[in-house]
Amino acid sequence: MPRSKSIDGEQFDRAVSELEYPILKELAARPLSPVELAAQYPKKSFRIGWQFEGEIGGRPTILNLLLPFDFPYAPPSFGLVPAPKILTYPHVEEDGTLCLLSAGASVDSAQPAEVVRELLSDAVELLEKSYTGENRGDFRDEFLSYWSRASTQPANHFLSLLRPSPPSRIVRAWPGIKGYTFAENEESLKGWLANLGDKKEFQTFPAGLIWLTKPMLPEQYPNSNADVLSVATELGDDVALKVLRSLAAAAEDKFVLLIGSRAVTGACFAGATLNKPRGSSSPFSKQGSLLTKGFRPGSVPREILASRFLNATEPVTRHEVDRADPAWIHGRDIDNGQIQLSAKRVVVLGCGSIGSLVAKTLATVGVGQITFVDPENLVWANIGRHFLGAEFVGGSKAKGLAKELQPNYPHIEFDHRSAKWEMIADTEPGVLSDADLIVSSIGNFSSEGLLNRWQRLAVHPPVVYGWTEAFASAGHAVAIFNVGACFRCQTTEHGEPTLKVTEWPGPTLKQEPACGIMFQPYGPIELNNSANLIAELSVDVLLGAVNSPTERIWASRESVVTSNGGAWSRGWLELTAGDTRGGFCVERAWGENSECTVCRMAIGKC
Ligand SMILES: [Zn+2]
Repeated sequence: MPRSKSIDGEQFDRAVSELEYPILKELAARPLSPVELAAQYPKKSFRIGWQFEGEIGGRPTILNLLLPFDFPYAPPSFGLVPAPKILTYPHVEEDGTLCLLSAGASVDSAQPAEVVRELLSDAVELLEKSYTGENRGDFRDEFLSYWSRASTQPANHFLSLLRPSPPSRIVRAWPGIKGYTFAENEESLKGWLANLGDKKEFQTFPAGLIWLTKPMLPEQYPNSNADVLSVATELGDDVALKVLRSLAAAAEDKFVLLIGSRAVTGACFAGATLNKPRGSSSPFSKQGSLLTKGFRPGSVPREILASRFLNATEPVTRHEVDRADPAWIHGRDIDNGQIQLSAKRVVVLGCGSIGSLVAKTLATVGVGQITFVDPENLVWANIGRHFLGAEFVGGSKAKGLAKELQPNYPHIEFDHRSAKWEMIADTEPGVLSDADLIVSSIGNFSSEGLLNRWQRLAVHPPVVYGWTEAFASAGHAVAIFNVGACFRCQTTEHGEPTLKVTEWPGPTLKQEPACGIMFQPYGPIELNNSANLIAELSVDVLLGAVNSPTERIWASRESVVTSNGGAWSRGWLELTAGDTRGGFCVERAWGENSECTVCRMAIGKC
């Protein structure tokens, strides 16, 4: 719905008065009537506008200066009159307005005249380059913006789960209500669809990806089957042509295609549906079929069938393509490790409040496979700190996490075991030993002491141990590998870590009014800091950024400790040279201990 009011009308009027002299006078601009504004820009909300003429690049040009309701907080626009046919020039919209600033760009609201001058100069420069054709490469660099304007209305979007890279290949597609979904093969396509939560049987079809050496220019956007063939010939290779021919020869009435390429800004996909030439569906047609002419039905050689299909002038449907592959979801194609993470498998032992928050973060960063292990069920008292909520109370924590995360991350494989890890180590050792990393947030140092022994008595994956101190006033994450210090090296004989950040006058574990049920009182906000610390160290180990025994410690703000009646420990003050402020993270090596019984045992074994 068009806007009718400025939020700061006074400022708008002041800014307009600053434009009147000298800019508008110099340009000899005439005001546009509200009717002209509404007629030329039906989809936009401009409050006021002026028209002026001049010569740009030797060509007489008419421009509109257009002020939005939020001017001068929002930038002015310039519109070319009359609006050229769409895709004639880059950065010019259907209504003729010029795209001069990136979305969300901010302007100096205190200097409206300067902003208008600056953008007018940008507009002139853009049109000079557009008239000479100097900036036609922008059509390639920003391919997706232009292809989206050329998609055939009302074509459904395609959804791609494909690796955004060559070579051209036969892939698989499923025709959903919202449009086709493309995956590398039938198994991955069906797995992804099932992960979304739909259990029905899916019928999938062969489809294609053809990879071009560079994105298409607007004049290469295909209108017909023959245009697809010609762009594949021009910008593709023999494999692309082979993919097209194979799909065309086998198509019953149509086939769907993704057209991929790499712009300087990243990978791009365009989608197209190629239809079988009309007249071919009826074997009784007097006109004869374009595809079978000259042959008995069913005996047309495949090469001829494919050639006739692909050379036909049958119109194609063009589709925009959304991407849901891991490289796009987790890194927008820029690999800061996300692509490596998608090949990793992590086991999370202990799916309580900390484990659940770590698990959510590991899924968000794109770890490819995550297995949850925890014997406990979720109870009402958990949900004030746990990632899972009331919907999962009464059920297994491990199963609940997998169930909650799976449909939200259908490209990730989640798995669960509602059992103690010791049982899994006995019955299904591969679940633990074949992982790339084990994250332990069990919260029980006896069980973690045993985990440490298990890890060191064979070649087992690295373990990141994570825990918090009372009131989540401090969080610890320790990475232990198969060599170097073990977890026991820096713990007491009871398995408790030697360095504590905080000290408390009495016991901090509160007891529920039931036998032997103890809990740590801490809030979800402080807990998030510790969970992030553990997740971050886990990712660093997975990416090889941390490869020797390391501890990271998060200390909360001092007031969290003192308001709960605690104090910084002597060991912590020594480590931080007496810094009592808190609110920061410290990293240190987890040193080897020559007296460590576990390390000695491991050496003895060798
Ligand atoms: Zn040791």
